[in-house]
Amino acid sequence: MKIICVGLNYRDHIEELGFSAPDEPIFFLKPETALLVRNRPFFLPDFSQEIHYEVELLVRINKLGKYIQPRFAHTYYNEIGLGVDFTARDIQERLRKEGLPWEQAKSFDGSAVVSPFIPKNQFSNLSEIRFSLQKNGETVQIGNSNNMIFNIDQLISYISQYVTLKIGDIIFTGTPVGVGPVSINDRLTGYIEDQKMFDFKIK
Ligand code: MG
Repeated sequence: MKIICVGLNYRDHIEELGFSAPDEPIFFLKPETALLVRNRPFFLPDFSQEIHYEVELLVRINKLGKYIQPRFAHTYYNEIGLGVDFTARDIQERLRKEGLPWEQAKSFDGSAVVSPFIPKNQFSNLSEIRFSLQKNGETVQIGNSNNMIFNIDQLISYISQYVTLKIGDIIFTGTPVGVGPVSINDRLTGYIEDQKMFDFKIK
């Protein structure tokens, strides 16, 4: 399986980073070794002094697809989850200034937290999914899928023009405003609507 992450998909987050909104979706990949599941702790790596959380809605692909038309994209996923796209912000800043790829800032072990998935038919409206992240019990990020620049169907269609999507692939759909650093002993808890999706510690 592969993990495909969409960047810069919420205007308020783009503003907080000082980026400008893209004309087309931006995506990058994380390797399978980045997966962190079942509320296992995240171990802070030595190479960064500034690891940021980014809470994001996830989509799990349920059939093989290439050149998927936007109107058919909804048939390529059945489940929604919640994740954290951990980012070494200090490294990303350095790479970005030099115009270099972001992988070292994004693809490290444990950088893709993935919750269990919920059937999408449990949502009355996929364009109105509210989600949030708490750090040590305090809400630090609140998002809603209605604020995505490119919606889930548009993302699936766009990505599939470049990369064949396979069963089990996971798409991170971008983070809203409020990203920030984690420290040792922090606890991150994620919610979709009022349902707790993950709860784990930083070590
Ligand atoms: Mg992200």
